[in-house]
Amino acid sequence: MSTLSARNAWIQEFVTDYKAYDVRNFESLPQIRKLTEEQRFAIKVVAQVLPFKVNQYVVDELIDWDNIPEDPIFQLTFPQPGMLSEEHFNRVADLLKKGDRDELERTVNAIRLELNPHPAGQLEQIVPTFEGQRLRGVQHKYRETALFFPAAGQTCHSYCTFCFRWAQFVGMEDLKFAGREAETFADYLRAHPGVTDVLFTGGDPMVMKTRVFRRYLEPLLDPSLEHVQNIRIGTKSLAYWPQRFVTDPDADELLALLEKLVEGGKHVAIMAHFNHWAELGTPMVEEAIRRLRSTGVNIRTQSPLVRHINDSPDVWAKMWKKQVQLGLIPYYMFVERDTGPKNYFEVPLARAVEIYQEAVRQTSGLVRTVRGPSMSATPGKIEVQGVTEINGDKVFVLRMIQGRNPAWTYRPFFAKFDPRATWIDELEPYGTDKFIWEAEPGTWRNAS
Ligand SMILES: *Cc1c(COP(=O)(O)O)cnc(C)c1O
Ligand code: SF4
Repeated sequence: MSTLSARNAWIQEFVTDYKAYDVRNFESLPQIRKLTEEQRFAIKVVAQVLPFKVNQYVVDELIDWDNIPEDPIFQLTFPQPGMLSEEHFNRVADLLKKGDRDELERTVNAIRLELNPHPAGQLEQIVPTFEGQRLRGVQHKYRETALFFPAAGQTCHSYCTFCFRWAQFVGMEDLKFAGREAETFADYLRAHPGVTDVLFTGGDPMVMKTRVFRRYLEPLLDPSLEHVQNIRIGTKSLAYWPQRFVTDPDADELLALLEKLVEGGKHVAIMAHFNHWAELGTPMVEEAIRRLRSTGVNIRTQSPLVRHINDSPDVWAKMWKKQVQLGLIPYYMFVERDTGPKNYFEVPLARAVEIYQEAVRQTSGLVRTVRGPSMSATPGKIEVQGVTEINGDKVFVLRMIQGRNPAWTYRPFFAKFDPRATWIDELEPYGTDKFIWEAEPGTWRNAS
């Protein structure tokens, strides 16, 4: 067995089965004949640099192949030519045509490094040190919530073209650390009684087989971890693979595990990632939601605002209304991060807050639990609340929903209006020369 197939066999051990396509076999999809030769080649070019994986359910049930390439789910899952700059695109296209594998690999790696692979200090700042070791797979940025990235959950049922975690998917070498990891998590939590919430994220932790996920979840019921009251699971599986909760061989076992956590006194929240109402329309997703809710878990929803996919108030209003009707609780609208193919997907903050407000106006109060548009930036989660005027100057009204320093939370602040700005680092404070995190630096680790 080659190293590659040995690794694939190993991955099969840990993650659930589904038929997926990538750059090597997507041309075997019958629907792909709807694309021109040139469009297919463009997919191959972009997929050299950025991750690409799409499964049969998404292809057959979610994409409207009579609306290509504009269809939002096609934009969400298939690499698009505009995701690379013209210069990068042409360099990769030339090398691909020449078949120069070595030069292609060097070029692709260089391009990836230019795309800000680890935004908001993902790597350095928030990985905690525990018993003298840097703890891989844990991020502890906000006092009350610890994030876990289980090693076997660092893939997804399909990949989103805009994903800021893209750098994780292009090399999956860390799987071998999976074995001991669950115990390290539990030890870390025992040593941190201030943590009330844990959030499992990825990739998508729901790609893990139930017997693997159980090793992380069951220890949370131990009396020594009573302070962990709320368990969140960030997942896009309801959109990409609702079979996970209905027909997968271990679907029932998974539901029983979630029910056990609820019965053990935990609040279990599925943080479901939906980008478009088209993901909420199949009998399979409705059945998955019905079954999940019957276990007593809550389902909250979140999504970034992304150009070409959902940059219209009507799309959001329709999606949120459908979610509420199905018993889901809208939670966050995010601003697309400053990484990877950002130029293709970004929406200016001024437009983002308009879309948010126009969408919310079309709904009832049950939708208005949703916060946004929010930027997960280095100092914290910053919500754009609106645009207003102070002494004749146009300004953004902002607030920090979560701060590295809890003292910053919910204090309104202002920035000079800029119609083109797409991220906090492009804004200037208004009426003062520093933002709160610059004027009063610190984190919960050293805050009094
Ligand atoms: C959003 C987020 C959380 C959770 O914040 P809430 O306001 O409790 O939803 C925790 N950790 C990180 C790194 C986050 O980005
Ligand atoms: S499901 Fe989440 S982690 Fe996976 S590709 Fe999409 S946004 Fe990224």
